[in-house]
Order: sequence, then C-alpha cells, then structure tokens
Amino acid sequence: MQNDIQEILISEEEIQQRVRELGAQLSAEYAGRTPLVICVLKGAFIFMADLVKVITVPVEMDFMAVSSYGASTKSSGIVKIIKDLDVPVEGRDVLIVEDIIDSGLTLSYLIELLQGRNAASICVVTLFDKPAGRTVNLEASYTGFVLPDEFVVGYGLDYAELYRNLPYVGVLKPEIYSN
Ligand code: 5GP
Ligand code: MG
Ligand code: MG
Repeated sequence: MQNDIQEILISEEEIQQRVRELGAQLSAEYAGRTPLVICVLKGAFIFMADLVKVITVPVEMDFMAVSSYGASTKSSGIVKIIKDLDVPVEGRDVLIVEDIIDSGLTLSYLIELLQGRNAASICVVTLFDKPAGRTVNLEASYTGFVLPDEFVVGYGLDYAELYRNLPYVGVLKPEIYSN
C-alpha cells in the first residue's frame, strides 16, 4: 500500500498536531454548550475519532453517509444520502466534521438539509480544503490544511475504497489509476 504512494503531502505528525489545535479552538467555541457532532462518512471517520478525543466539552455524536463520487475522482454533483442521522437536529448546535472540501457540493447540500431541519447553529470543520476545485461559494469555519488541486488519499480518504488506513495524506502514483 505504501508502495502505491508517490508523495506524502502531510505527515502523520503534522496531522496530529493540527487536530490538537482544532480541538482546542472548538472547545473554546462550544464552551458551556453540548454540540451535536456529525461525522460525514466514510471519509471523515478517522478525523472525527481523533478530533473528539481532543475536544474538552461534552459532545453528542451522530453519523451520516453521503456519496457524491462513486468510484471516480471527480464529483458527480449529485449527492445521495446513504445513511441519515439517527437523532433530530432541531434546536441543536451542529458541528459538521468533513474530511475534505473540493467542489463544495456535498457540504452545501448538507448545510441546506440541516438548516431545513431547524438546527440552532451549523458550524463546519474540515481537515482538508482544495479551494481551487470550488464550484459553489462556501467556506468551512475551521480548516486544517489547504491542499493543491490534486486527488489525495489517506487518513480516511480513499481511492476505490482503498488507502483510508494510511496515517498520512499523499498522492498516488499515476499508474494506480490506469490499472
Ligand atoms: P465535493 O462535494 O466538495 O466536491 O467533495 C466532497 C467529497 O468528495 C469529500 O468529502 C471526499 O469524500 C471526496 N473528495 C474530494 N476531494 C477528494 C480527494 O482529493 N481525495 C479523496 N479521496 N476524496 C475526495
Ligand atoms: Mg466527505
Ligand atoms: Mg471517496
């Protein structure tokens, strides 16, 4: 698996350090409140797990699975709910945890959905952002790292469901895509 990686963009240590910083910022933001932290599956599951461990306020957690890519590396623009939330968001302070924002289509769909369900507040934390890919005008409240316009894998992010368990984020060798 490591042999398929052309270049590591962000090391495990850099990610862990940044996650601790984000956790501290979010703990301050939500002081005195109990946010509902929503993990957008599958890509955000590792980030979510590391992040909630360094948030010091009480949190509730829920999970939602959406799909906008299929097996391709470009967004189809169509967002499908694979698994909806288990709990109502009405009146809740919602923190959406995303792995990466590219076009912004997935997130804008999710924000509209949760607004429609009358969340009290909606805040987004994304570990990675690729602003060059944006087709809708949207920014996360908290961003871990800004990345170049390249398809990346690792730390939860897949290519054809593989590479999610790499502890760092990197770019695949070009021959992997042509197989
Ligand atoms: P968007 O709707 O913003 O274009 O894309 C959002 C979702 O597409 C992300 O949450 C992620 O699951 C997937 N995605 C976007 N860029 C990348 C990338 O560089 N690598 C991987 N593995 N997935 C990505
Ligand atoms: Mg995602
Ligand atoms: Mg994917």
